[in-house]
Amino acid sequence: MSVSADPLILVLLGPGGTGKGTVAQRLIEVDNALWLSRSWTTRAPREGEPADAYVFVNHEDFQAHIERDGFLEWAEFLGNLYGTPVPEAPSGHDVLLEIELEGALQVLAKRPDAVVVLLTPPSEAAQVARLRGRGDSEEHLAMRVAKGREELDRGRAIAHHEVVNHEVEQAVGEVLGILNARRQARLRLASQPEE
Ligand code: 5GP
Repeated sequence: MSVSADPLILVLLGPGGTGKGTVAQRLIEVDNALWLSRSWTTRAPREGEPADAYVFVNHEDFQAHIERDGFLEWAEFLGNLYGTPVPEAPSGHDVLLEIELEGALQVLAKRPDAVVVLLTPPSEAAQVARLRGRGDSEEHLAMRVAKGREELDRGRAIAHHEVVNHEVEQAVGEVLGILNARRQARLRLASQPEE
């Protein structure tokens, strides 16, 4: 059996306010063979948000990128568009995507071997506190919480693993365990003799 040379794709899924972004950043700090894709969005930058958090674009530019097949996946989320450019990870790197549910479904349709990890908050109160700390308006916050409940339910139906983010290092450790187990499985498969 031959094994694809495509990089492994790890999708980090989870409702807003779960700490996905922090966990994703930490994952690439501690795993040198993991590459974090930078998404495009039509959302305006939040106050204090780093300029490189996304490629911030207008609708026209986003649409043009859809038309030239530039996205692996894209979705609308609470009125804004978000998309993962077709990944160009450096050789030998696996790909980390921090995206929402509709995008994860598209990735799975194209790459059924992708690993989906659902990151969940320890409680809804912790999630709301995190969203509030980020400066979301109260109206937006209520929408995010409602959307978050839906994302948890639907996320559980498609995720291969669920990790509770009690604390960043614990969550990162668990995700790395999942990733490394998958890498080992791929190596074992690659070393099997061809039939
Ligand atoms: P935020 O506005 O809080 O940065 O992101 C809103 C949601 O969009 C989050 O769930 C985030 O993970 C998701 N997201 C970020 N980038 C992408 C992307 O490229 N594609 C999809 N489908 N979702 C994304």
